[in-house]
Amino acid sequence: MHRSKGLLDEGRGGIARAVMDQPVDPATRLRRGLLIVLSSPSGAGKSTLSRMLLQDDPLITISVSATTRPIRPGERQDKDYHFVDDVEFDRLIRAGEFVEWAPVFGHRYGTPKAPVKAALKAGRDILFDIDWQGTQQLHAEMGEDLVRIFLLPPSMSELQHRLQTRGTDTDTVIADRMGRAESEISHWAEYDYVLINTDAQRCLEEIRTIVAAERLRRARQIGLVAFVRDLIGPQH
Ligand code: 5GP
Repeated sequence: MHRSKGLLDEGRGGIARAVMDQPVDPATRLRRGLLIVLSSPSGAGKSTLSRMLLQDDPLITISVSATTRPIRPGERQDKDYHFVDDVEFDRLIRAGEFVEWAPVFGHRYGTPKAPVKAALKAGRDILFDIDWQGTQQLHAEMGEDLVRIFLLPPSMSELQHRLQTRGTDTDTVIADRMGRAESEISHWAEYDYVLINTDAQRCLEEIRTIVAAERLRRARQIGLVAFVRDLIGPQH
């Protein structure tokens, strides 16, 4: 397994710089970034929708988590995850490098803190593919900046079908994921928005609508106070 001392330190410069290098929409320059959480049981279409959303909107960057789970065929180190071993994960916890972390399917997953801070400061949005445990922790840490979206599958049989045709997991893993899907779904009411992913394109449109509206919330538009002062004078 890949060992990399200071992996996320490296990432701090690298990822933060990548965030800063994204094009800036003048209309959104004076706003706080959004932290968009997309949670769902495995197989509900979260990865596909994340990919579509990122392709679609240059203002959104994905948060790359660290994980102790083994790399799967087709996955890329530091693109899909920072794949680390248990010793490195422990070090990252001790160093306070995670904004949240949680055990999922017998492995540990954590969200690096530095890119989140950089994105927020730069008024850019960051997308998190994390579970309900991570969402609860992020909510406790930075609730005001968070937009929580939960994706439901149209049915449990459709979910099983999607897991089987994905072909990345063994039957035992699929059975395990189906068992856990129920407990993941039981947290649906902790989210701000809940979508049923019957059609990926329609779901993407719904997510884009949510993002557009959330960007316009008064509290996020930090330039408004000065703008309105100019508009009608400071006495109001
Ligand atoms: P997978 O191993 O299939 O990529 O992901 C398994 C689960 O772990 C998914 O539900 C995913 O959302 C969750 N996950 C991925 N990264 C993180 C993370 O950094 N924190 C938490 N809490 N969950 C994560």
